[in-house]
Amino acid sequence: MPVVPMREILDRAFAERYGVAAINIVDDLSLEAVLAAATELEAPLIVQTSLKTVKSLGTGPLMAIWRARADATPVPVTLHLDHCPDREWITRCLDAGWNSVLFDGSELDVAENTRQTIEVVAEAGRHGAQVEGEIESVTGVEDDVGSDEAGAVHPTDVSREFIAATGIYSFAPAIGTAHGLYKAAPHLMPERVTEIVAEHPIPMVLHGGTGLSEEQFSDLIARGCAKVNISTALKLAFMRAHRDFFERSPQHADPPVLLRFVRERVIAVAREHILLFHSEGKAA
Ligand SMILES: [Zn+2]
Repeated sequence: MPVVPMREILDRAFAERYGVAAINIVDDLSLEAVLAAATELEAPLIVQTSLKTVKSLGTGPLMAIWRARADATPVPVTLHLDHCPDREWITRCLDAGWNSVLFDGSELDVAENTRQTIEVVAEAGRHGAQVEGEIESVTGVEDDVGSDEAGAVHPTDVSREFIAATGIYSFAPAIGTAHGLYKAAPHLMPERVTEIVAEHPIPMVLHGGTGLSEEQFSDLIARGCAKVNISTALKLAFMRAHRDFFERSPQHADPPVLLRFVRERVIAVAREHILLFHSEGKAA
């Protein structure tokens, strides 16, 4: 199965109301591990890169690793650029072959965000790529993008006008979630998803999902959150695997043993979320 456009994965998930995990990978090991989990569960998968990861690895090396891994994967997979406020990097990733981008204009006023998102949609369209849009910043810093201050939430009319004006493929509404770990239980606004989807039936994207309950995920997916981003959970599993390995074997000096241990932990976290969002068996 070659790499497919984002819409080939999300159109069906949105129509059938299951969620597809969109997992932020940080390197080749985590990429290979999440693809292995999707293969095992016969699930479609969205692989995401933060702008920080793109900058640290470079678009060329990252795309080469992606193609090598993804082309050998028997389930539908697609590559997405997570929160990117920088137009130049949007262009670089689209030119390099990313299938989808989140132009994060949430720091701009809505009119300017709308104007620029229209340009990004046109640019992506020339590459056969899709665009995710957002107008309200998700609380919390993720890989250097964002703020810990809760941003303004506009009436849902503003979201509906933004979607109509820009022609974005998917939309990340503010629903009370935050990036990172929750210090207190979030106050969710799931009805905002329903209100937007009622007028514009396009896939909604859930950010800040780490720490939500199974019921909260299921409810949001049923309302139209077809793409469910997972970043913090993978990062924690990745970091803790290293810590746990060295707590058990402080003198170990054989890197492949450590890498296999970390890989199993990353596979486990990907598997857990694929099952939680009910996309297992949907690769066919
Ligand atoms: Zn996010």
